Amino acid sequence: MKRKKSVFIFSEMPSDITRTENAGMLILAVLSGLCSVLQIYAVSGFINTALRSVHNSLFRPELFLKLSLLLLTVAVDWLAPRVSAVLRQKAELKLLREYRPRMLEKCAALKYIHVERPDSQDLIHRVLKEPERNWQDIWQAVLALLKLLISITGVMSVIAGYVWWAAGLILLFCIPLFVLSVKGGKINFQTSRDTSHYSRKYWYLDHVLNSRECLNERKLFGYTEKVNRQYADTYQEAFGIETKTQVFWAVKTKLSGGLSAIAALLIVITLIQPTLSGKISIGLFISLVNAVFLLTNQMSWGLSRNIDTLVRGNEFCRDMRAFWELPEEEGVLEPPQYVKNIEEIIFRNVCFQYPGTDHKVLENVSFTMKMGKNYALVGVNGAGKTTIIKLLTGLYSDYSGEILIDGRELRSYPSSEQKGIFSVVYQDFCRHALTFKENCEISDPCHKLSEEKMVKLAEQFDLVRRIERFPEGYDTLLGKTREGGVDLSGGQWQKLAMVRALLRPAKVRILDEPTASLDPKMESEIYRLFQEMTKDTLTILVSHRLGFARLADEIIVFENGKIREQGGFQRLMQKKGLFYAMYEEQRSWYQ
Ligand code: ADP
Repeated sequence: MKRKKSVFIFSEMPSDITRTENAGMLILAVLSGLCSVLQIYAVSGFINTALRSVHNSLFRPELFLKLSLLLLTVAVDWLAPRVSAVLRQKAELKLLREYRPRMLEKCAALKYIHVERPDSQDLIHRVLKEPERNWQDIWQAVLALLKLLISITGVMSVIAGYVWWAAGLILLFCIPLFVLSVKGGKINFQTSRDTSHYSRKYWYLDHVLNSRECLNERKLFGYTEKVNRQYADTYQEAFGIETKTQVFWAVKTKLSGGLSAIAALLIVITLIQPTLSGKISIGLFISLVNAVFLLTNQMSWGLSRNIDTLVRGNEFCRDMRAFWELPEEEGVLEPPQYVKNIEEIIFRNVCFQYPGTDHKVLENVSFTMKMGKNYALVGVNGAGKTTIIKLLTGLYSDYSGEILIDGRELRSYPSSEQKGIFSVVYQDFCRHALTFKENCEISDPCHKLSEEKMVKLAEQFDLVRRIERFPEGYDTLLGKTREGGVDLSGGQWQKLAMVRALLRPAKVRILDEPTASLDPKMESEIYRLFQEMTKDTLTILVSHRLGFARLADEIIVFENGKIREQGGFQRLMQKKGLFYAMYEEQRSWYQ
């Protein structure tokens, strides 16, 4: 793919957050650059005065003045990078506090499709990897180049006053160094781009090998060695790509070093003649030689390193721009707006296929759901039940047909209202490592938590005895992520997820197989409890296990993305169709 011409995109820089620190660092860099030029005169003045004193065996009071000037420049040179380092630290902390939350907010606002797409995930993974450090690296590189520019201009001006063409020589050597640095920077960034999906994979494998949540499976299946091998292979592939870059980098560094040494030697040779003829004083010769070696050294290391950082920084800016341009779901961060009531939900000829796939997972699906009733969506795994829930809750909106809520197309509802209609417990609900109470609080950001209601629900789900044994009751930290945290069993986490869903004053409540780790009887029992507590709402229960379907007012049976049967339990059993066959197959689970 043809890549766009490289342009620095400083507009992406979050300078509003670190304006003061950046300005401080800029002043220090300019001061430090000017100081390095002043130092040439300070050193030369001091040496010449000292030599005259020794020559005449006469102490000259101006020696103190020259020495003070020299010490002043040395002090600025010493102090500036240290103060700058403190400012950088401060800037990074500010970015961590203000910029990272902005980025996380952006991630939360992304259209759902980007949460699933691998290229967007790679991009997000790249930009979220230490953005604070990256921004500061870029700024530091700009300042270092500015300082270098001031120093080069200063030293060249002094030299050009005596041997004009020596200054041209420095410039001549800068060009290949510059070209090599730009090329190196691009290769470096391309490498990190090429290896980013490998690193995402080996970080995941690292998680599988280390994490507590995979511990049981790791032990039982004994897959550690296999996963370890996969980890090593993935790492090896990334390592192979990185090695090539490192070889280039090493060659480039040696070449730059060689070029700079030649340049320095040539300049020194050109200064010998004017020094011998008395045009240049001994002091100036010594300080110029010192400055030239320092400068060429900085050019071989500093120039290439900083240009390399800038070129990579430029690519990072492009990534950042692409990240900020990822489409957002409108109003997704707004708090939910709860609706007072809804009467019915209608699916009319709904067809859907996942983006990037070529087959329909839902085909002409039509059904109606009424307030106050409960519905069971059943069917084997992969039949399309969860997709119905994803469409209904607005995760995907590019379906054909209509989804009407009280006669109004779902897509025309503002996101805040859409959110306010539903309360969902997903298959992969979150186990927040917060206290029980905090877990309940986040279910409804708009109202203060009713502790009375929370305790009542905990009682109904038989959680109270367990909570009372916690050291701090409802304020005990759950999960083993931090010291003092207590863990819940799989079933207890599921019950907590349901308590959360019930605390949210939504009119449509959905359970999408969150009970998978319970046995079928227990699952039915939990669904029964849930239904009892949701009499005034529209309830949708999803499962491939059918014991609970007896409780539903209406059962909708899915097969391959189509509705195969629909009706009450008795009617479907009498019909002796697909539902009957599936139910009979599972009957023994409930006896
Ligand atoms: P169920 O909930 O009945 O088990 P789903 O609605 O989850 O079924 O899945 C229906 C079909 O859609 C399956 O074939 C599944 O592989 C496919 N599918 C689910 N999610 C995605 C996705 N994000 N991208 C592509 N295909 C998907």
